[in-house]
Amino acid sequence: MYRTHTCGALRLQDSGIQTTLAGWVQTIRKFGAITFVDLRDRYGITQLLLGEALTKQLEENPLGREFVLQVTGTVQERSSKNPALATGDIEVNATSYTVLNKSATPPFTIQDDTDGGDDIRMKYRYLDLRRNAVKKNLELRYAVNRAARNYLHGQGFMDIETPFLIKSTPEGARDFVVPSRMNEGQFYALPQSPQTFKQLLMVSGYDRYYQIVKCFRDEDLRADRQPEFTQIDCEMSFVEQEDILEMFEGLIKYIFEEVKGIAYTEKVERMSWEDAMWQYGNDKPDIRFGMKIANLKFPGYAFPSKQPDLAEGLPQGFKVFDDAETVVAISVPGCSEYSRKQTDELTDWVKRPQIGMKGLAFIKYAADGTVKSSFDKFYNEAQLKSILNAAAASPGDLVLILAGTEERTRKAMSELRLEMGKRLGLRKDNEFKLLWVLDFPLFEYSEEDNRWVARHHPFTSPKPSDIDIMISTSPEIKDAASYLAHPYASIKANAYDMVLNGNEIGGGSIRIFQRSLQEKMFTALGMSHDEALHKFGFLLGAFEYGAPPHGGIAFGFDRLCAILGGSESIRDFIAFPKNNSGRDVMLDAPSSIDVKQLEELSLILKDQ
Ligand code: ASP
Repeated sequence: MYRTHTCGALRLQDSGIQTTLAGWVQTIRKFGAITFVDLRDRYGITQLLLGEALTKQLEENPLGREFVLQVTGTVQERSSKNPALATGDIEVNATSYTVLNKSATPPFTIQDDTDGGDDIRMKYRYLDLRRNAVKKNLELRYAVNRAARNYLHGQGFMDIETPFLIKSTPEGARDFVVPSRMNEGQFYALPQSPQTFKQLLMVSGYDRYYQIVKCFRDEDLRADRQPEFTQIDCEMSFVEQEDILEMFEGLIKYIFEEVKGIAYTEKVERMSWEDAMWQYGNDKPDIRFGMKIANLKFPGYAFPSKQPDLAEGLPQGFKVFDDAETVVAISVPGCSEYSRKQTDELTDWVKRPQIGMKGLAFIKYAADGTVKSSFDKFYNEAQLKSILNAAAASPGDLVLILAGTEERTRKAMSELRLEMGKRLGLRKDNEFKLLWVLDFPLFEYSEEDNRWVARHHPFTSPKPSDIDIMISTSPEIKDAASYLAHPYASIKANAYDMVLNGNEIGGGSIRIFQRSLQEKMFTALGMSHDEALHKFGFLLGAFEYGAPPHGGIAFGFDRLCAILGGSESIRDFIAFPKNNSGRDVMLDAPSSIDVKQLEELSLILKDQ
């Protein structure tokens, strides 16, 4: 037996017992003839006292950081206790030790506050993983994994594995492809998700399926995305949207309780996609704070059912507003005393290329009721007050106003709202707010291809009330200018996203389960009959053999862990992540392969 205890186990009541520990040398401190060593393993740190009897051994073979030691000795009370350590009341007075393995000097300190930068820690990820901070994240990840499995198992879900080598059917993201040696000139693809397999499992009668599964998407890596990531992937038969919402609200609440000890007892709020865009400029609003958008002016096509928040419309006379398609505002509480410098800084903030606005207008509504704006020249006080009113501003608020084209302006306001929420400390790490966003549009228009694309994926069913529109109308679009008038633009999907603190943590839909409607969907997406058969013949075929009504959802497991861990980066919660260029810097992958391998695969590289 290598050890009798772990480095996190011993306490004062163990004083006097003999123990053998094994672990890594974290620090070495010499005091005259005595050497103190902090020995670390996965469970904690225990102080070792190496006394005079061991001096000779220490001198002949000095210890170094990260050496692997086996130590035997007696547990004793420490003279200077360390309340920060669980084992801080004791130390092990060593009688003997063995160096099980030496270590080169590590390239960074293996401590909570390390001196290692991101790149070096990724290169030596196996050392980074020894650090407490990273270990805690992986422990949390495992706790989420366990909780998810417990809950789903308890609800009768069955974990069924689906293949990784599948057929390339890009729709949405780009596929990673794998050449087949045995089938010359042919390729597998890695799944972007197990979507069609889980639907086939429903056809097979496995009415509650789940899998915690890797998905692969060859996307340009925007901030904090990974080319391979993990989903909690689920599917159910004989369900309607309401059944799914309840089941998976239950899952997330269970995870909160098990992992964070949070009893999330309130009902999860629900919001239509249109209201989310209208009130927050975003389909995944952070509802931990208010600061909702006031819609002072907007194009009718964007929100046919909405009225502007200004009853008389926006006053004329200020060219920036007069010429804009959309004018939106937020009231930022308690900021009416912002200095010129502060408003200039905010103006620069919205002008950054990522936000892309030309400027920022504002009204300071002082606590004593006085009103001062950046466009006083153009509006009189009554007009300014009408805006304050529309923006539901209170004395003490700073009203920020953006004007421009609909999409960009709304998006910019959404960003500005989040930024102000952050600056005012309204986005608290330890507060969790769930939200269901419902009633998404089924289609999006792709200007590049002048055709419809599926907003979620092509297997998502339209709302029952919109199925007729889809069946009876031709998908043809005359030109980019007229797509909004097309009946397809108004079709709503039977789809839902779960949002946590402004992050989409899950999304899914009720599926199409009739061959004819699925074929219609493929046609709507511009696929010919032959193409649909070539890509999805297996699914269309399966729908001929008694496919049950079904629906499902998938949660972004890495993201969920990061949010629960109070971090913005999913990389911190993945044992071996890739960097922003999709590289594994530890393995140095991707990399070139041997000529022989290329030959076996019948591949010739273009430049060789
Ligand atoms: N497969 C979908 C996705 O990866 C989720 C779902 O519809 O269940 O987004």
